[in-house]
Amino acid sequence: MTTRTPLMAGNWKMNLNHLEAIAHVQKLAFALADKDYDAVEVAVLAPFTDLRSVQTLVDGDKLKIKYGAQDISAHDGGAYTGEISGPMLAKLKCTYVAVGHSERRQYHAETDAIVNAKVKAAYKHGLTPILCVGEELDVREAGNHVEHTLAQVEGGLKDLAAEQAESVVIAYEPVWAIGTGKVCGADDAQEVCAAIRGKLAELYSQELADKVRIQYGGSVKSGNVAEIMAKPDIDGALVGGASLDSDEFVKIVRFRD
Ligand code: PEP
Repeated sequence: MTTRTPLMAGNWKMNLNHLEAIAHVQKLAFALADKDYDAVEVAVLAPFTDLRSVQTLVDGDKLKIKYGAQDISAHDGGAYTGEISGPMLAKLKCTYVAVGHSERRQYHAETDAIVNAKVKAAYKHGLTPILCVGEELDVREAGNHVEHTLAQVEGGLKDLAAEQAESVVIAYEPVWAIGTGKVCGADDAQEVCAAIRGKLAELYSQELADKVRIQYGGSVKSGNVAEIMAKPDIDGALVGGASLDSDEFVKIVRFRD
C-alpha cells in the first residue's frame, strides 16, 4: 500500500504584506520546531510580493516549511502585463503553485483549457501544481457534483504524461464551502475525493492514482480537520481563512496530536 504524506497548505489569498509574511512564517516555524513534522508537509501559498521574503527566511533558517504561489502564467515570458511566469517562480525556489483556484475561475474567467496550460507551465519549470477543482452550490444541489469535478480533473490534466501527473496535488474545494463557514461533511468530501482517485486510475493507472495526494479545502478549521483527515482518500487540506491565524493553522497542522 502506498503511503501518502499529508500536505497541509495555507492559501493566504490577497492577505499579508511582506513584513507580515515574515512574522507569520517565523511564528509557524517556532511553533512547529519542537516536533518532528516529517510526517506532515507544511506549505504556504503566499502573494507574489511576499515570495522573496519567505524564500530568504526559509533558506536562511533552513526551515522545513515549503512555499509557493497562488497562480502562474501559462506563458514563459513576454508582453503579458501583470503576469508572473514559471521561470520567475522557479528562480524563487517555489515548490508549489495553486492552479485553477475557484476565485481564479470565477473572477478571472479561467477555463479548464487555461488551467491545463498553467498546469503544464508549472511542470515545465519544475513546480508542483496544486490543481483546484470543485462544484458550485447549484451543481451540488442538482446532484452533479462528482461529474462536474471529474470533468475539471480531466480538463486540468489533459495530455499530461504520467511522469508528471504522478506528482500532482489535487485540491477538492466545493465552491460553496470556501470562505463561507459551511463545511462539506467528511463523508461527502470523501465521496468526491474517492471518485477523483478513481478518475486518475482510469486516466493513468491504479498505481499512479494511489500515489497522488488529494486535499480537501473549504472552511477547514482545527475543530473539523481531524474528522476530514480520517477519510482514506483525503491526504491533506488547503486552508484559506484559517491559515492567516498562525495559532489556528498550527493546530490544523498538528491534527494528529
Ligand atoms: C481556499 O481559499 O482555498 C479555502 C479553502 O478557503 P477557506 O478555508 O477560507 O474556505
